[in-house]
Amino acid sequence: MHQALLPEHLTRLSDEETDRRTTEIRDRLGSRLVVLGHHYQRDEVIKFADLRGDSFKLAQWAATRKDAEYILFCGVHFMAESADILSADYQKVILPDLNAGCSMADMAALDQVETCWDVLERVTSERIVPITYMNSAAGIKAFVGRRDGAVCTSSNAPAVMRWALERGDKILFLPDQHLGRNTAYQLGFRLEEMTVWDPYLEHGGNTARALIDSRIVLWKGHCSVHGRFLPEHVDQVRAAYPGIRVISHPECRFEVVQASDSVGSTEKIIECVTQAPAGTAWAIGTEIHLVHRLRNENPDRLIVPLDDCGCLCSTMFRIDPSHVLWSMEKLLEGEVVNQIAVPDDVARWARVSLNRMLEITH
Ligand code: SF4
Repeated sequence: MHQALLPEHLTRLSDEETDRRTTEIRDRLGSRLVVLGHHYQRDEVIKFADLRGDSFKLAQWAATRKDAEYILFCGVHFMAESADILSADYQKVILPDLNAGCSMADMAALDQVETCWDVLERVTSERIVPITYMNSAAGIKAFVGRRDGAVCTSSNAPAVMRWALERGDKILFLPDQHLGRNTAYQLGFRLEEMTVWDPYLEHGGNTARALIDSRIVLWKGHCSVHGRFLPEHVDQVRAAYPGIRVISHPECRFEVVQASDSVGSTEKIIECVTQAPAGTAWAIGTEIHLVHRLRNENPDRLIVPLDDCGCLCSTMFRIDPSHVLWSMEKLLEGEVVNQIAVPDDVARWARVSLNRMLEITH
């Protein structure tokens, strides 16, 4: 499925007219439509969201709220897939721009993961439990569901890892090596007990001995946004703002997380900063739209991005007001565009791994 070009009449609208029409159509669709918005969305889009959240909160919403006929998902592709998997059959999930993917999710292809699994099963007789981060394709979640594993998010990765260790000897963690490493370290594992699987190298770039000895096998994937933060940014921001507290996302590199005062998912970052006393100062290592929004909504705190280039999720940025309006206009005309529909056999097993996560954390 490819993204269609926007009709010409939409490309000529002013920002004000686009807003006005979107509000009008939104009202006309009423409770038939719910708009979900990820925290990294730009302000011009998030203002239309009925619910804002990280991928976990939005997935929970999709699993419990069955009232809306259409779910317009202002996030990226894997999030819309999860919403489709967890929502009811009669609900249709729409991604306003199909180009809104995720570079991290694209770093783990199903055939590569199957090869890795075959090698691990061959070299070790231990029980391996696969965990995949929410930021992965539905096919990877299904793979994990079939092999008695679970999905995790940046909020609940420690709980899911503990759950996996009660069931097995070894974890294959997909696809974000940084979240896997940071979480395992937090749980008391040493770096020497982890190895990285590079899907482009034979045996993932490991000897059989290294695979046997490691407790955590980390897939070599990363977030191109959070991966840009470096330990020197922590030093620089501390030098520029003495006394500032640094909070980073667990998708950041190990060295950045270690240098930070605290680490947390987007929901935890929001909670920390908004509940901190007025007058406190924060440097935040996450996507720039969330940092700017926190700064604007909390003028009595000093809030700055961890680096000064402003790390932007360019794929999330694909969702713009014109595409939101276009997809709503089409709904009003009775046409569903950009529906994200996961095939039944994939959805069935992906639901197993997603539901395991929801059970572990509740
Ligand atoms: S911030 Fe990183 S992990 Fe999140 S959607 Fe963007 S590229 Fe993917």
